Amino acid sequence: MTERNEPNGGNEDSAGSAPVEDEITPEAAFELVAHETRIAVLQALQAAGGGPLSFGDIRERIGLTDPGQCHYHVDKLCDHFVWSTDDGYRLSPAGWQLVGALLSGSITATIDEETVVVGSSCTACGGDLVAHFRQSGVTIICTDCRFVQTDPDIPPALVDDWPSSELPEVVSRYTLQMEVDAAHGFCPNCRGRVSRGVVTPTDVSAPDWFDGETIEALVVTDCHRCGKWWHAAPSVAALAEPAVVALYHDHGIDLREQPWWALDGLTVGSTTVRKDPLYVHVHIDLGEPKTVVFDEAFEFVETYE
Ligand SMILES: [Zn+2]
Ligand SMILES: [Zn+2]
Repeated sequence: MTERNEPNGGNEDSAGSAPVEDEITPEAAFELVAHETRIAVLQALQAAGGGPLSFGDIRERIGLTDPGQCHYHVDKLCDHFVWSTDDGYRLSPAGWQLVGALLSGSITATIDEETVVVGSSCTACGGDLVAHFRQSGVTIICTDCRFVQTDPDIPPALVDDWPSSELPEVVSRYTLQMEVDAAHGFCPNCRGRVSRGVVTPTDVSAPDWFDGETIEALVVTDCHRCGKWWHAAPSVAALAEPAVVALYHDHGIDLREQPWWALDGLTVGSTTVRKDPLYVHVHIDLGEPKTVVFDEAFEFVETYE
Protein backbone atom coordinates (compact mmCIF):
# COMPACT_ATOMS: atom_id res chain seq x y z
CA MET A 1 0.00 0.00 0.00
CA THR A 2 1.48 3.32 -1.08
CA GLU A 3 -0.03 6.74 -0.72
CA ARG A 4 0.10 10.24 -2.05
CA ASN A 5 -1.78 13.39 -1.13
CA GLU A 6 -2.53 15.85 -3.86
CA PRO A 7 -5.51 18.19 -3.90
CA ASN A 8 -7.85 17.40 -6.78
CA GLY A 9 -9.54 20.78 -6.67
CA GLY A 10 -12.98 19.83 -5.45
CA ASN A 11 -15.49 17.11 -6.04
CA GLU A 12 -16.50 16.66 -9.66
CA ASP A 13 -19.44 14.53 -8.58
CA SER A 14 -20.98 17.13 -6.29
CA ALA A 15 -23.68 18.26 -8.75
CA GLY A 16 -27.10 17.81 -7.22
CA SER A 17 -25.85 17.36 -3.64
CA ALA A 18 -26.61 19.72 -0.76
CA PRO A 19 -24.38 22.79 -1.04
CA VAL A 20 -21.51 23.22 1.41
CA GLU A 21 -20.26 26.76 1.72
CA ASP A 22 -17.16 27.86 3.57
CA GLU A 23 -18.30 30.06 6.44
CA ILE A 24 -14.77 31.25 7.01
CA THR A 25 -11.60 30.80 5.01
CA PRO A 26 -9.06 28.15 6.09
CA GLU A 27 -6.64 31.01 6.87
CA ALA A 28 -9.19 32.67 9.17
CA ALA A 29 -9.95 29.33 10.86
CA PHE A 30 -6.27 28.78 11.65
CA GLU A 31 -5.94 32.36 12.86
CA LEU A 32 -8.79 31.76 15.33
CA VAL A 33 -6.84 28.99 17.07
CA ALA A 34 -3.33 30.40 16.64
CA HIS A 35 -2.80 31.24 20.31
CA GLU A 36 -1.61 29.06 23.16
CA THR A 37 -4.51 30.16 25.40
CA ARG A 38 -7.08 29.16 22.78
CA ILE A 39 -5.46 25.75 22.35
CA ALA A 40 -5.51 25.43 26.16
CA VAL A 41 -9.26 26.27 26.19
CA LEU A 42 -9.96 23.59 23.54
CA GLN A 43 -7.89 21.04 25.45
CA ALA A 44 -9.65 21.91 28.75
CA LEU A 45 -13.03 21.31 27.09
CA GLN A 46 -11.79 18.06 25.53
CA ALA A 47 -10.47 16.85 28.91
CA ALA A 48 -13.96 17.59 30.32
CA GLY A 49 -15.56 15.28 27.74
CA GLY A 50 -16.38 18.21 25.46
CA GLY A 51 -18.11 20.20 28.22
CA PRO A 52 -20.23 21.89 29.21
CA LEU A 53 -17.90 24.01 31.33
CA SER A 54 -18.76 27.38 32.82
CA PHE A 55 -16.54 30.34 32.05
CA GLY A 56 -15.15 30.16 35.60
CA ASP A 57 -14.34 26.44 35.17
CA ILE A 58 -12.45 27.10 31.96
CA ARG A 59 -10.49 29.94 33.53
CA GLU A 60 -9.59 27.77 36.52
CA ARG A 61 -8.55 24.80 34.35
CA ILE A 62 -6.26 26.81 32.11
CA GLY A 63 -4.88 28.81 35.07
CA LEU A 64 -5.56 32.25 33.61
CA THR A 65 -6.15 34.88 36.33
CA ASP A 66 -7.24 37.74 34.08
CA PRO A 67 -10.97 37.27 33.23
CA GLY A 68 -10.82 39.88 30.44
CA GLN A 69 -8.02 38.01 28.67
CA CYS A 70 -9.85 34.71 29.10
CA HIS A 71 -13.12 36.16 27.73
CA TYR A 72 -11.26 37.56 24.72
CA HIS A 73 -9.80 34.18 23.77
CA VAL A 74 -12.97 32.14 24.47
CA ASP A 75 -14.98 34.61 22.35
CA LYS A 76 -12.57 34.13 19.44
CA LEU A 77 -13.28 30.37 19.53
CA CYS A 78 -17.04 30.78 19.85
CA ASP A 79 -19.33 29.84 16.97
CA HIS A 80 -16.72 27.84 15.16
CA PHE A 81 -14.73 25.66 17.56
CA VAL A 82 -16.73 26.21 20.75
CA TRP A 83 -20.46 26.65 21.26
CA SER A 84 -21.84 28.83 24.03
CA THR A 85 -24.96 27.09 25.38
CA ASP A 86 -27.31 27.68 28.33
CA ASP A 87 -25.36 25.03 30.29
CA GLY A 88 -21.94 26.45 29.50
CA TYR A 89 -19.31 26.15 26.80
CA ARG A 90 -19.08 23.02 24.66
CA LEU A 91 -16.62 21.79 22.07
CA SER A 92 -18.21 21.94 18.59
CA PRO A 93 -17.66 19.12 16.04
CA ALA A 94 -14.96 21.32 14.43
CA GLY A 95 -13.36 21.71 17.89
CA TRP A 96 -13.39 17.93 18.39
CA GLN A 97 -11.77 17.42 14.99
CA LEU A 98 -9.04 19.92 15.72
CA VAL A 99 -8.28 18.43 19.15
CA GLY A 100 -8.38 14.94 17.60
CA ALA A 101 -5.84 15.94 14.96
CA LEU A 102 -3.59 17.39 17.68
CA LEU A 103 -3.93 14.30 19.87
CA SER A 104 -3.20 11.94 16.96
CA GLY A 105 0.22 13.60 16.79
CA SER A 106 -0.10 13.88 13.01
CA ILE A 107 0.41 17.65 13.14
CA THR A 108 2.83 18.03 16.02
CA ALA A 109 4.85 14.83 16.42
CA THR A 110 7.07 12.49 14.44
CA ILE A 111 7.71 8.78 14.85
CA ASP A 112 11.07 7.58 16.19
CA GLU A 113 12.98 5.54 13.65
CA GLU A 114 12.97 1.98 14.86
CA THR A 115 12.98 -1.55 13.46
CA VAL A 116 10.70 -4.18 14.95
CA VAL A 117 10.77 -7.89 14.10
CA VAL A 118 7.42 -8.99 12.69
CA GLY A 119 6.49 -12.45 13.94
CA SER A 120 5.27 -13.69 10.56
CA SER A 121 6.73 -14.70 7.21
CA CYS A 122 7.03 -13.02 3.83
CA THR A 123 4.13 -13.93 1.53
CA ALA A 124 6.52 -14.03 -1.45
CA CYS A 125 9.39 -16.20 -0.16
CA GLY A 126 8.65 -17.24 3.42
CA GLY A 127 11.53 -15.13 4.75
CA ASP A 128 11.53 -13.03 7.94
CA LEU A 129 9.64 -9.75 7.98
CA VAL A 130 10.71 -6.58 9.79
CA ALA A 131 8.87 -3.31 10.32
CA HIS A 132 10.98 -0.19 9.69
CA PHE A 133 9.31 2.81 11.34
CA ARG A 134 10.12 6.16 9.74
CA GLN A 135 9.19 9.77 10.61
CA SER A 136 5.63 9.51 9.28
CA GLY A 137 4.99 5.87 8.56
CA VAL A 138 6.19 2.29 8.47
CA THR A 139 7.47 -0.17 5.88
CA ILE A 140 6.97 -3.89 6.48
CA ILE A 141 9.56 -5.62 4.35
CA CYS A 142 11.13 -9.07 3.87
CA THR A 143 14.77 -9.30 5.03
CA ASP A 144 15.46 -11.95 2.35
CA CYS A 145 13.75 -10.94 -0.90
CA ARG A 146 13.04 -7.25 0.05
CA PHE A 147 9.37 -7.67 -0.93
CA VAL A 148 7.40 -4.79 0.65
CA GLN A 149 4.19 -6.06 2.28
CA THR A 150 2.93 -2.58 3.08
CA ASP A 151 4.32 0.94 3.63
CA PRO A 152 1.54 3.26 4.83
CA ASP A 153 1.83 6.66 6.46
CA ILE A 154 0.55 6.31 10.02
CA PRO A 155 -0.26 8.80 12.80
CA PRO A 156 2.17 8.91 15.75
CA ALA A 157 -0.73 8.01 18.09
CA LEU A 158 -0.56 4.49 16.68
CA VAL A 159 3.02 4.05 17.86
CA ASP A 160 2.31 5.72 21.22
CA ASP A 161 -0.74 3.69 22.20
CA TRP A 162 0.51 0.13 21.61
CA PRO A 163 3.64 -1.73 22.74
CA SER A 164 6.17 -2.26 19.93
CA SER A 165 5.62 -6.02 19.97
CA GLU A 166 1.99 -5.46 18.91
CA LEU A 167 2.73 -2.79 16.29
CA PRO A 168 2.81 -5.07 13.21
CA GLU A 169 -0.72 -6.32 13.99
CA VAL A 170 -1.84 -2.75 14.70
CA VAL A 171 -0.42 -1.59 11.34
CA SER A 172 -2.32 -4.44 9.68
CA ARG A 173 -5.60 -3.33 11.28
CA TYR A 174 -4.90 0.30 10.41
CA THR A 175 -4.33 -0.46 6.72
CA LEU A 176 -7.35 -2.78 6.67
CA GLN A 177 -9.45 0.02 8.17
CA MET A 178 -8.42 2.25 5.24
CA GLU A 179 -9.85 -0.41 2.91
CA VAL A 180 -13.03 -0.64 5.00
CA ASP A 181 -13.40 3.17 4.79
CA ALA A 182 -12.84 3.00 1.02
CA ALA A 183 -15.38 0.18 0.62
CA HIS A 184 -17.90 2.39 2.45
CA GLY A 185 -17.06 5.33 0.17
CA PHE A 186 -15.19 7.52 2.71
CA CYS A 187 -11.72 9.03 2.67
CA PRO A 188 -9.84 8.25 5.91
CA ASN A 189 -8.05 11.60 5.60
CA CYS A 190 -10.83 14.15 5.02
CA ARG A 191 -14.05 12.06 5.15
CA GLY A 192 -14.75 13.11 1.55
CA ARG A 193 -16.10 10.76 -1.09
CA VAL A 194 -13.72 8.28 -2.70
CA SER A 195 -13.92 6.18 -5.81
CA ARG A 196 -12.21 2.85 -6.34
CA GLY A 197 -11.07 1.17 -9.47
CA VAL A 198 -8.97 -1.77 -10.61
CA VAL A 199 -5.76 -0.90 -12.46
CA THR A 200 -3.68 -3.35 -14.52
CA PRO A 201 -0.02 -2.79 -15.51
CA THR A 202 -0.90 -1.74 -19.07
CA ASP A 203 -3.40 0.98 -17.98
CA VAL A 204 -2.23 4.56 -18.53
CA SER A 205 -3.09 5.35 -14.90
CA ALA A 206 -0.93 2.47 -13.57
CA PRO A 207 2.06 3.55 -11.44
CA ASP A 208 5.44 3.22 -13.26
CA TRP A 209 6.80 0.57 -10.90
CA PHE A 210 3.79 -1.69 -11.42
CA ASP A 211 4.95 -3.18 -14.73
CA GLY A 212 6.87 -6.38 -14.02
CA GLU A 213 5.32 -6.98 -10.58
CA THR A 214 3.97 -10.42 -9.77
CA ILE A 215 0.44 -9.23 -9.06
CA GLU A 216 -1.88 -8.69 -12.01
CA ALA A 217 -3.97 -5.83 -10.66
CA LEU A 218 -4.12 -3.11 -8.02
CA VAL A 219 -7.15 -1.60 -6.35
CA VAL A 220 -6.68 2.16 -6.43
CA THR A 221 -8.68 4.42 -4.12
CA ASP A 222 -8.85 8.11 -4.96
CA CYS A 223 -10.38 10.88 -2.85
CA HIS A 224 -12.34 13.46 -4.86
CA ARG A 225 -11.96 16.02 -2.10
CA CYS A 226 -8.38 15.97 -0.77
CA GLY A 227 -6.64 13.97 -3.50
CA LYS A 228 -5.36 11.26 -1.15
CA TRP A 229 -4.58 8.25 -3.30
CA TRP A 230 -3.47 4.80 -2.34
CA HIS A 231 -3.44 1.30 -3.70
CA ALA A 232 -3.72 -2.20 -2.32
CA ALA A 233 -3.46 -5.70 -3.74
CA PRO A 234 -6.96 -7.02 -4.62
CA SER A 235 -6.48 -9.83 -2.09
CA VAL A 236 -5.98 -7.21 0.66
CA ALA A 237 -8.77 -4.86 -0.46
CA ALA A 238 -11.07 -7.92 -0.61
CA LEU A 239 -10.71 -8.29 3.18
CA ALA A 240 -13.06 -5.30 3.57
CA GLU A 241 -15.81 -7.13 1.69
CA PRO A 242 -18.53 -8.61 3.95
CA ALA A 243 -18.58 -11.89 1.94
CA VAL A 244 -14.87 -12.37 2.67
CA VAL A 245 -15.15 -11.35 6.32
CA ALA A 246 -17.98 -13.91 6.65
CA LEU A 247 -15.95 -16.63 4.89
CA TYR A 248 -13.12 -16.22 7.40
CA HIS A 249 -15.58 -15.94 10.27
CA ASP A 250 -17.14 -19.28 9.23
CA HIS A 251 -13.66 -20.81 9.54
CA GLY A 252 -13.16 -19.37 13.03
CA ILE A 253 -10.79 -16.60 11.88
CA ASP A 254 -11.27 -13.02 13.03
CA LEU A 255 -9.53 -10.76 10.50
CA ARG A 256 -8.61 -8.35 13.29
CA GLU A 257 -6.62 -10.92 15.20
CA GLN A 258 -3.81 -11.68 12.76
CA PRO A 259 -1.98 -9.52 10.24
CA TRP A 260 -3.45 -9.86 6.76
CA TRP A 261 -0.06 -10.92 5.39
CA ALA A 262 -0.15 -13.95 7.70
CA LEU A 263 -3.73 -15.03 6.98
CA ASP A 264 -4.46 -18.63 6.05
CA GLY A 265 -5.81 -19.28 2.60
CA LEU A 266 -4.73 -16.04 0.95
CA THR A 267 -1.55 -14.85 -0.75
CA VAL A 268 -0.98 -11.47 -2.34
CA GLY A 269 -0.69 -13.01 -5.81
CA SER A 270 -3.76 -15.26 -5.51
CA THR A 271 -5.71 -13.18 -8.00
CA THR A 272 -6.75 -13.75 -11.60
CA VAL A 273 -7.76 -10.88 -13.88
CA ARG A 274 -10.25 -11.42 -16.73
CA LYS A 275 -10.62 -8.62 -19.26
CA ASP A 276 -13.37 -7.19 -21.51
CA PRO A 277 -15.12 -6.54 -19.27
CA LEU A 278 -12.64 -6.49 -16.43
CA TYR A 279 -13.25 -8.77 -13.46
CA VAL A 280 -10.86 -9.63 -10.62
CA HIS A 281 -11.09 -13.13 -9.18
CA VAL A 282 -9.57 -13.41 -5.69
CA HIS A 283 -8.86 -17.01 -4.72
CA ILE A 284 -9.12 -18.02 -1.07
CA ASP A 285 -8.41 -21.55 0.08
CA LEU A 286 -9.46 -22.33 3.63
CA GLY A 287 -9.65 -26.10 3.05
CA GLU A 288 -12.28 -25.68 0.34
CA PRO A 289 -11.21 -23.33 -2.48
CA LYS A 290 -13.49 -20.32 -3.02
CA THR A 291 -13.22 -17.46 -5.47
CA VAL A 292 -14.63 -14.01 -4.83
CA VAL A 293 -15.28 -11.92 -7.96
CA PHE A 294 -15.13 -8.11 -8.14
CA ASP A 295 -15.87 -5.80 -11.09
CA GLU A 296 -13.72 -2.95 -12.43
CA ALA A 297 -14.93 -0.58 -9.68
CA PHE A 298 -14.02 -3.30 -7.18
CA GLU A 299 -17.67 -3.89 -6.33
CA PHE A 300 -18.50 -7.42 -5.17
CA VAL A 301 -20.09 -9.56 -7.91
CA GLU A 302 -20.27 -13.14 -6.68
CA THR A 303 -18.57 -15.98 -4.85
CA TYR A 304 -18.10 -19.40 -6.48
CA GLU A 305 -16.44 -22.69 -5.53
ZN1 LIG B 1 10.53 -12.50 0.94
ZN1 LIG C 1 -9.81 12.93 1.28
